[in-house]
Amino acid sequence: MTQRPTLPPLGALKAPSLSWNAASPYSEAFGDVYFSRENGRAETEHVFIHANHLPERFSHWRETRPFVIGETGFGTGLNMLCAWACFERHALRHARLHLISTEKYPLTREELAQALEAWPELASQTASLLTQWPAAVSGIHRLHLTDRVTLDLHFGDTCERLALLDGQVDAWFLDGFAPAKNPDMWQPELFHSMAARSRPEATFATFTCAGIVKRGLKAAGFRWQKVPGYGRKREMLAGRIDTPPLDGRRQQTPWFTPPAVKPAAHIVVIGAGIAGTSVAAALARRGLRVSMIEKQAIGAGGSGNQQGALYVKLAAQTNDQSRVYFSGLLYSRRWLENLDPAHRFWHDSGVIQLALSEKETRRQQRFLGNHSLPNSLLEGKDGHSLEKLVGMEVTAESALFYPQAGWVKPRKLCEHLLSRPGIRYRQGEVVRLNESPQGWLIHLASGETLEADQVVVANAQLANHFEQTREVPLQAVRGQVSTLALPENVEGPSSVVCAGGYVPPAVDGVLTFGASFMPNNATTQVEDQDHLSNIDELRRTLPALATALETAGVDLTPANLGGRAAVRAASPDKSPYAGPVPKADAWQQDYALLRKDATRVPAVAGQHYPGLWISAAHGSRGLASAPLCAEVIASRICDEPMPLEAPLVDHLHPGRRIISALIRAQ
Ligand SMILES: Cc1cc2nc3c(=O)[nH]c(=O)nc-3n(C[C@H](O)[C@H](O)[C@H](O)COP(=O)(O)OP(=O)(O)OC[C@H]3O[C@@H](n4cnc5c(N)ncnc54)[C@H](O)[C@@H]3O)c2cc1C
Repeated sequence: MTQRPTLPPLGALKAPSLSWNAASPYSEAFGDVYFSRENGRAETEHVFIHANHLPERFSHWRETRPFVIGETGFGTGLNMLCAWACFERHALRHARLHLISTEKYPLTREELAQALEAWPELASQTASLLTQWPAAVSGIHRLHLTDRVTLDLHFGDTCERLALLDGQVDAWFLDGFAPAKNPDMWQPELFHSMAARSRPEATFATFTCAGIVKRGLKAAGFRWQKVPGYGRKREMLAGRIDTPPLDGRRQQTPWFTPPAVKPAAHIVVIGAGIAGTSVAAALARRGLRVSMIEKQAIGAGGSGNQQGALYVKLAAQTNDQSRVYFSGLLYSRRWLENLDPAHRFWHDSGVIQLALSEKETRRQQRFLGNHSLPNSLLEGKDGHSLEKLVGMEVTAESALFYPQAGWVKPRKLCEHLLSRPGIRYRQGEVVRLNESPQGWLIHLASGETLEADQVVVANAQLANHFEQTREVPLQAVRGQVSTLALPENVEGPSSVVCAGGYVPPAVDGVLTFGASFMPNNATTQVEDQDHLSNIDELRRTLPALATALETAGVDLTPANLGGRAAVRAASPDKSPYAGPVPKADAWQQDYALLRKDATRVPAVAGQHYPGLWISAAHGSRGLASAPLCAEVIASRICDEPMPLEAPLVDHLHPGRRIISALIRAQ
């Protein structure tokens, strides 16, 4: 049985040890150039673009899914930028391109900029890449280069990354330093992973004719032929795979097998919070028609606060949940910068997680000991440096600082997302869903019925009130934020400061702080009790601010505070749900054997309601989780590569609790 691929450690990647050889980047580690400055672009066009027949294939591409290119070794990005330029030149108006590239030693943004200066004709593509270029940390980084072109950077070892890829490729660029200089990459696993992640008839091209490559490709099922190489290289290889092997990774977890792809011209999304609006925007970006149905108003639920923190809390020892949230934070950050470069509804003020107890200090130390993350993403701070970051006296002796995190105006964000072309907003309460020959009938409380090909349920704690979703466990958690108009001579913190709750920088002279946390409570009136607990938490987190307020004559009592209460939705394991809705009764039957023996996995694919999806259980950190979950769902609906590693996509599956309950019942 094929083993579930294991996720490599979450951490910083090594620098590529570059030098510049006649203005071309040269890898000291591999003793090889990235490209030749005289003819690098022409070589790329010859070896990768034309040997994969991309101009012809792009000009004929009429599929609703994107054309997918997979590359080993991003390097300076020259190949991917050339593929993108070729796509712009040849593809039809509605065609889309999805680029996947692995890289173990990512260049810095400055190095990339310097290297790509050699190609002024690619300046616009280069600029878009550089703006979004991520920090050198392991994982998948999704960049929306344009509405039609997406780049997934899979940072880490190529063989490991391809084993974790959940997606299929139409054309491979088999690049990377030559086999003699980089033997670790050109392993049999590389070719087997390429084969397993290929579409039928997928092509490949590579500059090398090394025996190990020819043998590896053949053993994995690729047919190849020698074709003329570029310039002084006499020969290179190009070829294809006719029938790729089945994905053996599903043997251990057949329940998570994705449902068959369905037509998706019109999709209904239920609930206009951050979960629903980010799914709607992700689908509309892909050219689909979306109807957003909202019971009350945009941001009527948990997503309606004036201000919220873009933050995460990561486990001391990396686990799947932390990986999802960390990827989510980095994705949200890039996504917000793309949506709102002028920072009208968000700010990257940084987030500080104070250690106010010995237990939390130890936890943070363990975290730092277990994770080598770049300082641009996360840094341990001591009391002295904290005061500079916060802009006032802080009692904590240490803290974790997330420079890229910050705060968001969630309601404004939801409104902005729905303003995109392709989304129709209408008010209505969805009371029932029925399958129909065309897809789904969506029944509203008003008695009206809508039709759609597919439905995404994103109505938070009410998401399991439909017949089909009733087995998706959700808990309501009431929360209330408090707000206070600051006197002129008192300023809020300059970063978001978190301890038990959070205090973001003031916006328009109003300080927001909170939030209370009351499980199994779905009430939404503003309560003095909650204000009192928020005041206590403010005093504990930023005593200097509480003192400054009182010195300025502010009476810190509920009577002086504004506030808003709403309900969060949480899953029992505190990870979100993002994926297809399982047919719970069928799962109970098909996997009943697990109750007796968890090692006897029935070879039956999980049954799902066709075209029914859920994004819910975003708990207290929806701003970090919902946008990435929206990508997970939109990518699956549109038959695209996933923005998370296969085990993490499974971790978010809405059916996971059914399986864990069966196994626990052993
Ligand atoms: C007080 C408070 C403070 C918070 N602070 C933060 C923070 O600082 N940072 C952070 O990341 N997260 C924060 N959260 C959590 C965050 O708000 C949630 O994770 C997020 O709002 C979840 O978004 P959602 O779209 O799933 O749900 P919601 O925003 O609740 O949206 C669900 C929508 O569905 C609609 N709906 C319900 N039923 C139906 C139906 N049958 N038909 C049609 N529409 C329906 C509702 O009216 C609602 O608009 C906070 C939550 C609370 C309560």
